[in-house]
Amino acid sequence: MENNKLTPVANWGLYPSIKAKIISPTSILEFQEAILSNEELITRGNGRCYGDASLQNTIISTAKWNKFINFDRQNGLIEVEAGVKLDEILEVSIPSGFFISVTPGTKFITVGGAIASDIHGKNHHVDGCFSDHLIYFDLMIENGDILRCSRHDYPELFWSTIGGMGLTGVILSAQFMLKPIETAYIRNEAIQANNLDEIFELFDSSESWTYNVAWLDCMQKGKTLGKSIMLRGEHATLDELPNKLKKSPLKIKKKLNLNIPFFFPNFALNPLSIKIFNWIYFNKQGKKHLKNYVDYETFFYPLDAVHNWNRIYGKNGFIQYQFVIPKEQGKEGMRQILETIAASGNGSFLVVLKLFGENNKEAYNSFPMKGYTLALDFKVNDKLEKLIANLDRIVMDFGGHIYRTKDAMSNPALTDYLQNVDSPKFESMQNERINRFK
Ligand SMILES: Cc1cc2nc3c(=O)[nH]c(=O)nc-3n(C[C@H](O)[C@H](O)[C@H](O)COP(=O)(O)OP(=O)(O)OC[C@H]3O[C@@H](n4cnc5c(N)ncnc54)[C@H](O)[C@@H]3O)c2cc1C
Repeated sequence: MENNKLTPVANWGLYPSIKAKIISPTSILEFQEAILSNEELITRGNGRCYGDASLQNTIISTAKWNKFINFDRQNGLIEVEAGVKLDEILEVSIPSGFFISVTPGTKFITVGGAIASDIHGKNHHVDGCFSDHLIYFDLMIENGDILRCSRHDYPELFWSTIGGMGLTGVILSAQFMLKPIETAYIRNEAIQANNLDEIFELFDSSESWTYNVAWLDCMQKGKTLGKSIMLRGEHATLDELPNKLKKSPLKIKKKLNLNIPFFFPNFALNPLSIKIFNWIYFNKQGKKHLKNYVDYETFFYPLDAVHNWNRIYGKNGFIQYQFVIPKEQGKEGMRQILETIAASGNGSFLVVLKLFGENNKEAYNSFPMKGYTLALDFKVNDKLEKLIANLDRIVMDFGGHIYRTKDAMSNPALTDYLQNVDSPKFESMQNERINRFK
């Protein structure tokens, strides 16, 4: 099973890119052998973290550890191996009337990755993080033992593994709750906001909606700084669904997905092309307040419709930068961040703003805290490190921190909220970077 061949590997941002020994166990024995016979290794799910979190000289991949264990269709309780991806769960759960309780902006992540990053979605202010719906997981620790961790059994290991970025061991399987739905559709509203004041007001007045998030045009300055669109939604009930969708409410027609077959040249993504994209995106709804019904793919996973979209940034790759700052300082902090980005000319067309609710205090390694979070993509270039250093400084001044699953270039001081994860064998490149910074 083991072979020492080095394979090129990078996560979704394609930066950094390394060569590593990749082991893909298919049995418990092979997982044990991989852990016991290698030093400094890390587990990898589907590599959808953006930076260096699931990279190491030796990588244990869960790609072949992806079987369903049990699905209680009465109660929405599911148990799967850690390499099962959310898209595979949705294919089975939606026809039975269940949705993933907390989902990120892509369905191509594994359950192991969902726990290790303790992912959040557009419903954090209502449903919390992935861990809020987790019953237990089986963890293989560095001596090869398997421990079933829950709120009652090995609670310390349970909480340190949640958001622990794979540094406590290999999550082998997990049981968690799904949420009931009547249809596979979302009652959707898209509302244009002309500046930061308007979008912050919309967040406050949208708090009763289960899902809300804003797309933001980060190229705007002055009076239109913060120009954006609030996107909010609810799972549609059967009664409210338009008649033409009522016939098969839990079925979505398979769509034709696009593919980006090659890397875009470096000049393709520039301030002008980003401005044009942003103008089209802001105006495409044709009115200030759009109300309609959309399928769940369109609402939750618009980017998944374009396979390999990460190639748009060119061969050097990109980083995603996501921070959170406390709510009270939110507007001023966000203003400074957006002004700094607009002045740098280092634009991003995928900019997502969200208001987190209170996070579960027991999940001390989770990223969210009550406040505003912004996520942006930046193409890697010569100017980027300076920009990130400036942004990090503002985030720090406002008492915020950075999401560890997206921290490829950030100052480690902003990601050192990880606790109780010391397992000498499990080390990611992320930690080596921290050592380099020290
Ligand atoms: C388009 C896009 C949108 C996204 N939107 C969001 C969002 O809205 N909210 C959000 O929270 N995140 C979001 N993410 C980030 C993504 O959800 C997380 O990075 C997630 O952890 C990736 O899971 P993965 O299976 O690909 O794991 P990987 O990327 O392979 O690994 C991520 C981390 O999990 C650890 N890990 C993976 N599997 C295991 C295991 N079995 N045992 C122990 N540790 C393990 C790895 O060591 C690493 O530290 C988004 C990513 C993309 C590409």
